[in-house]
Amino acid sequence: MDSLASKMSDQIDSLRDRLAEIACEIWDYAEAGGEEFKSSALLMDEFSKRGFAVERGLTGKSPDSGEECDMPTAFRAAFGNGGNPRVGVMLEYDALPNGHSCGHNLIAAAGLGAALALGTALEELPGEVVAIGTPAEEGGAPGKVEILHAGHFDGLDAVMMAHPSDRWNAESRFLSIVHPKNGGIIYRGRAAHASSEPERGRSALDAVLLFCNGVEFFREHVKDGSRMHYSIVNGGDAPNIVPDFAKVNIFVRSEDTNELNYMKKRVTDIASAAALMADVSCELEWDFPWYSPVKVPSFYSLARKSAESAGVGAGNFIDYDSFGSTDAGNVGLMFPLVHLDFKIAPLGTNWHSKESAEASRSQEGIEGMITAAKTIALTLYSLMTQPDLMRRIKDEFAARRRTFGSETYV
Ligand SMILES: [Zn+2]
Repeated sequence: MDSLASKMSDQIDSLRDRLAEIACEIWDYAEAGGEEFKSSALLMDEFSKRGFAVERGLTGKSPDSGEECDMPTAFRAAFGNGGNPRVGVMLEYDALPNGHSCGHNLIAAAGLGAALALGTALEELPGEVVAIGTPAEEGGAPGKVEILHAGHFDGLDAVMMAHPSDRWNAESRFLSIVHPKNGGIIYRGRAAHASSEPERGRSALDAVLLFCNGVEFFREHVKDGSRMHYSIVNGGDAPNIVPDFAKVNIFVRSEDTNELNYMKKRVTDIASAAALMADVSCELEWDFPWYSPVKVPSFYSLARKSAESAGVGAGNFIDYDSFGSTDAGNVGLMFPLVHLDFKIAPLGTNWHSKESAEASRSQEGIEGMITAAKTIALTLYSLMTQPDLMRRIKDEFAARRRTFGSETYV
């Protein structure tokens, strides 16, 4: 570690109490996606106080309709001379209905600590650090996709964030995901007495059942690692009424973006074929997908090395064999991204649970957050001070992106 890197690491240590306080305060607020008013204000105030130029509230843009939307709990805090290299740090701070059971309060504190430390280094270096406050990762309101499409990430060379977990991992593996808008596929038929005049009815539930069967047959013919899961949201009101309304929701996922687009087309066909068989109408409009990020192995190994120099033992890095999805993936399709997982709880801890919520306010949680902040700062600092390394990572990203199915990304 050179002297500036040690200075950043020491600064994060000196910020420990303040970062812990902020993490706990956001945990206590436990605000839902899009409603993180107190949490985002706390972070924006802290950035302002420490000399960052803060844009309070951002205007997002819908990627499919192009419509603008207000995102009062999103923000952009920048420090530096405005030129390149320019690195980004993402912060999340939304809670789930059962509180901060995904630990996004720690994502915010780690991102804050890392950005402040990079700001200190930038007093002596050319370049800029941009911290982007991204609301509603858990859904329910516009998030990173709208921020991305409005251009708030433009000009960044590389982006990082750190998410709490039961392990350390820098591989940033996520599945692309797409699902219908409006909470599902809607079928509309015709109600009738199910016993006295069934021939006059057209069952919307029949279409739902045919759809689910169609998906089951299709399941055999998708690539390994793809997923489809559905739930019947509305299956009619009573057995003696032929249901004139039924609704089924489905999530379609794949690590391969081309495969995701193919699956989306087949599931659309299955949905309309089910409507044809049941002689009912079908309403299906797809939401904009969350994509899996482009893989950048050199960036991942740099992050891992930085974590090791921040004190993480190599044995703490453990691979995953199961994956979720995140809107950070869309950022990782446009910019080299590390979505670092940092350990705050014993291996095997259930996530989105009472245990993970407690871990997000625990001593181990705070320690993990501090180490994660150092890891982000050291990784991005290496890129900013080693142009060859930055070039290698950007070239690797560009080469892999070309073969990633991303030509279909709009
Ligand atoms: Zn999460």
